[in-house]
Amino acid sequence: MCENPLQEIAAPLLEWYHINHRILPWRQDRDAYHVWVSEIMLQQTRVDAVVPYYERFIAQLPDIRALADCADDRLMKLWEGLGYYSRVRNMKKAARLICEQYGGIFPENVDEILRLPGIGAYTAGAIASIAFEQPVAAVDGNVLRVVTRLTEDGSDIADTGFRCQVTAALEDIYPRQECGDFTQSLMELGALVCIPNGLPKCTICPLQTLCGACKSGTQMQYPFRTKKAARRVEKKTILFLRYRNKIALRRRAKGGVLAGMWEFPNLDGYRTRKELSVWLAEHGIATRHIWMPVTVGNSKCEVKHIFTHIEWHMTYAVIDCADVTDENDFTWVTKEQLTDSIALPAAFRKVYGSALP
Ligand code: SF4
Repeated sequence: MCENPLQEIAAPLLEWYHINHRILPWRQDRDAYHVWVSEIMLQQTRVDAVVPYYERFIAQLPDIRALADCADDRLMKLWEGLGYYSRVRNMKKAARLICEQYGGIFPENVDEILRLPGIGAYTAGAIASIAFEQPVAAVDGNVLRVVTRLTEDGSDIADTGFRCQVTAALEDIYPRQECGDFTQSLMELGALVCIPNGLPKCTICPLQTLCGACKSGTQMQYPFRTKKAARRVEKKTILFLRYRNKIALRRRAKGGVLAGMWEFPNLDGYRTRKELSVWLAEHGIATRHIWMPVTVGNSKCEVKHIFTHIEWHMTYAVIDCADVTDENDFTWVTKEQLTDSIALPAAFRKVYGSALP
């Protein structure tokens, strides 16, 4: 890393944090379970979106043992809408392991925390510092942005080696006390002041006089990141099969995107009415009526859903069935079940909302 002013940031940053931090439900105490749940939810999701999920999750699963014992369907329903369901599956695995190996008490040792399923260096650092007051850094995008601007460091923030350097540099300057507040102050500054989109709010930044990028007016040059590969686009035709006031669902395959989750039956690509008729007949469905939002041969994307590396472009068909056989793997559910007890991934909720509002 470049020569940097990190040595002097702790005191002004902590002072700023004590006055300016947001009141958030997971900051009411330092319970490791609470820190863990909030940090996992906050991966890929905005703070204001996480708050109601967090409150409901903790109200229904108040401790590690309750999480370990929670039925999968109920757990998925609690997570519905947050996406990236492997996060909560790993949490349950980790909760079971904590119950088996640590008597239900969250381990304090950072190496033991790192061995838990779904916990990487960032989350382990957050838990160790916030819940257990250890000088372990938690380096995420917010922290990297603050540090690279302070130090005018143009290294690639996607580079693991550089992240390790930042982690080590921060751990050198952790205050003896208030480790948890120091971790949170860096994250909070990155979220509220040294913001990701648009100009940072340098005039209200407690680190303004220490900041290299602010002095030279180069804030927007940092952080540097090599361009990510473009997302792969996958086209799909989603089928809403209706029969006797019920709608068909099926389970996704155990591997890949949204593994094992519920989905509406669907086919790869944009399919014509004729292709759908053939597919339906092969799956034992006699149709009364097929409704599609576009004319045959002129299909277009009706709904987009973006995952980290993939984009789904979806069109759909609403199919009223005259008769169904069991030559398929469908489960027929009511509208109420779909709303109240089935965890349906956001991609499918979105297209369902467009097709059958
Ligand atoms: Fe970020 Fe500006 Fe503060 Fe520097 S002075 S850390 S660029 S907000």
